[in-house]
Amino acid sequence: MKIICIGRNYADHAKELNNPIPAAPLIFMKPSSALLVNQKPLYYPEFTEELHYEAEVVLKIDRNGRHVQEEFAHKYYSQIALGIDFTARDIQRRCKAKGHPWEIAKGFDGSAALGSFVPLDEVRGENGIEFFLHKNGEEVQRGRTRDLLFPFDRLIVEVSRYFKLHMGDLIFTGTPAGVGPVQIGDELEGFAIRRGPAREAIPLLRCAIK
Ligand code: ZN
Repeated sequence: MKIICIGRNYADHAKELNNPIPAAPLIFMKPSSALLVNQKPLYYPEFTEELHYEAEVVLKIDRNGRHVQEEFAHKYYSQIALGIDFTARDIQRRCKAKGHPWEIAKGFDGSAALGSFVPLDEVRGENGIEFFLHKNGEEVQRGRTRDLLFPFDRLIVEVSRYFKLHMGDLIFTGTPAGVGPVQIGDELEGFAIRRGPAREAIPLLRCAIK
């Protein structure tokens, strides 16, 4: 199982970190040992002093494929979850400054928190998927996948040019603006809006920092 992640996929988030808007999706990976499921807490890693949350919509890959064409890309996923791409921002900054790989800042144990999956049809409306993140009960991030620089189908095409997609692989599709630090004791909760006029918020993800 692979965890594929997309960086800078919302213009407002690229801007908040003073990064240019990419011409192609920025792709990186986390190892399977990064996965944090079943609402388990994340233990604040000792090597960072700036642990950040990044709430993201996560696609689960339904079938195997490589070199997928755009017209078929939608057949490769049918469920989404919310996830948190935990990032040691201080380490990432150091790695980037030196031109080094940033796995230690992004792929450490527990850095890929993943909530429960829902069928895409349940949550995809005219704005794509609308989702938000609470930190200790207050909203800190809100996004809608209509604003993705590279939408889901385009991600499937681009990723599968380099990496064979396997059933069960995950794609973290990028984070909107509002990323920020967490401290020990914080509680994060992710919600998606159910499709339809009631705009019911479905709780999909919970993660405490310990
Ligand atoms: Zn991210």
